[in-house]
This record gives sequence, structure tokens and C-alpha cells, in this order.
Amino acid sequence: MSHKLQVGEMIAAYLTDKEIWAHFNFIFSAKSKNSTTYKFVLIKSILENLYNVNDKLELPYSILFSSFAKIYWNLVIHHNLNQINMTEKKAEVQKILLDIQVKYQIPKTLVFDKLSHELQVEIINKVKKRCKINVMGAIYCDTGCTIYDFDNSKEQLRLNGTYYSFLQRFQRVLNYLTNYHLALFLEKFNEKGDTTNLLLKVENVSKRSTLVQFYHVLTSFYNSKCLYCGKAINKGKAHVDHFTPWSFVQADQLWNLVIACSACNLSKSDKLANKYFLKTVIDRNGSLITIPELRKREDMKVYTRNKLKDLYQYSMDNGFTDIWRPKKMIL
Ligand SMILES: [Zn+2]
Repeated sequence: MSHKLQVGEMIAAYLTDKEIWAHFNFIFSAKSKNSTTYKFVLIKSILENLYNVNDKLELPYSILFSSFAKIYWNLVIHHNLNQINMTEKKAEVQKILLDIQVKYQIPKTLVFDKLSHELQVEIINKVKKRCKINVMGAIYCDTGCTIYDFDNSKEQLRLNGTYYSFLQRFQRVLNYLTNYHLALFLEKFNEKGDTTNLLLKVENVSKRSTLVQFYHVLTSFYNSKCLYCGKAINKGKAHVDHFTPWSFVQADQLWNLVIACSACNLSKSDKLANKYFLKTVIDRNGSLITIPELRKREDMKVYTRNKLKDLYQYSMDNGFTDIWRPKKMIL
């Protein structure tokens, strides 16, 4: 079987936890062919899009590879890290990004989300085109054609249901594992100098430098009050908070973002808010979804109230048990 497959069908409907752990152990071991960081970055991209799948567990490549492109850009251009196990050579995606950076003379300090929308789209499309050829088939073959099926002409993958549930249940530890192995690979194949605080760089490589685009959307529709304590806040002083902490979900979906006062946002930090607020956010999302222009957003298209409930429950199951509540609430 070749990693250059264009279509792959799942051959198992049910996988046990033991079988899935064995697949992960294989991918992270020396037995799997990891001449580049592609597999680690693909796993990271799937993990950060766990809640962007539709009810059939399908994920379009446009979303998957926008994560992939962002992670790669931040590693290759922003952090100047080589992605292949050969000196003097460059991974294919690495070449694509360096060509674009040189062509438009983009400063290396710029992180992906600071690039213009048009440029982001150009990068995502080029990365997607390249990865279709040799990335989608690689993990598919490594895992015995069981964890997803994919179709390069439809440009989507569909996750196995039992595999999906596994990812939800062990999301936090899988993120740690993937980041660790990615950092280990990068450390081996990069000059010292670039590898200072490597794990920290990898852990934060997906993080947006700003939530300003969400701030604009949310503050156009909010009632000028902090979602948690109810205190009135001036528009300029509002903070955008990840209701389910970013450190768990590693993604920014509008339906998981709320407006909070600075005191609540800072004291909540990466804790989970009291369950009381789950209903508040579900109700808030219920109103957001009635606004036609918001309903068209990729993240809102696949939103359901159960998705937020699951995300909340799985953060607890993954160890987010330090529950936060505001000091004082104005009811
Ligand atoms: Zn507050």
C-alpha cells in the first residue's frame, strides 16, 4: 500500500482503546517512517478540529489544512525550524512556505494569523494541494486503514466513531504526547540556537496572537455585560474568554468564546467555569445562531448545543476539575 493513495476507505467499524493506543505507539515509534514532521502536524491538526466536524464526523480539508498550514508557517517561518531529517534539504511544505515568504518579502517575525486573508488562503491552498499527495495516505496506512477514510477529490476525511470518542476522552494527554514527539523530532534535526524552549514553542504554535476578529463579532451582539459576573463593561474594556479553556480545546470557535470583564477573564485563566454558565452560553449561542450572517460561519455551521455540552464534560474528564466562579455576581 502506498502513502500516495488518493482515496482510502475505513476497513473497521469498531476499534478498542488498546488497538488505538497501539496505533499511536507505532506512529510515535522509530518503526513508523517519520522523515518529516508531517504526521505529528496532521495529528495536531485533527485534534484541534475535533469539534469542527459535522454530525457524520466529516471534516473538510479546507479546515484541516488551515490548521496544518498555520502550524507549519509558525514552525518554519516564525520559529525558523527545519522539518526534515536531512541537512541541506527541505520538506516539500517547508519549500512552499519559504517560496511564498521570499516572493512577498514577508517579515519572518509575522505569525500566520497576522498575514492578510488573501495570503492565508493562498498558503492554505498550496499546502492542501501538496499534503493531499503524501500526507493523508501516510497515517491512513500506518494505522491499518482504520482511523479515518478520506477522499482527495471530495477533499474531506471522515473519522471512525470509536476513534473519535477516543480522541475526545484522551484529548489532553494526546496533545501532550504529540507536542512532545514533535519537539523531540525538531530538536534532533535543528541546530542548537533555534531549539531554546522548543516544547514551549510547539505547545503555543497554534495559539492566535489576537482574538480581535472574535471581539468585533461578539461585541456587536452582546448586552454590554460580563457573561459571568453581570457587571456592565464599556465596549473598549471587554475581554474575549474561552468558555472551555484554550489549553484544552486548542481552538477558537465563536460558540466557545464569550465576552467577560477583565477581572473575571484574568481570575478564570485556564479554569473551567461553574456548570451554571454552561446553560448561559448555550442560550447565548441560541441567539447567535439566529443571525443569518453568523450562521454562515464555518464554526457556527456545525455547532449544536450537544457539542458544547460534550466539550464541557470532556474537559472535566480530561482533568479540568478546578472549577471557577466569579467572586460576586450581579443578578
Ligand atoms: Zn465579570
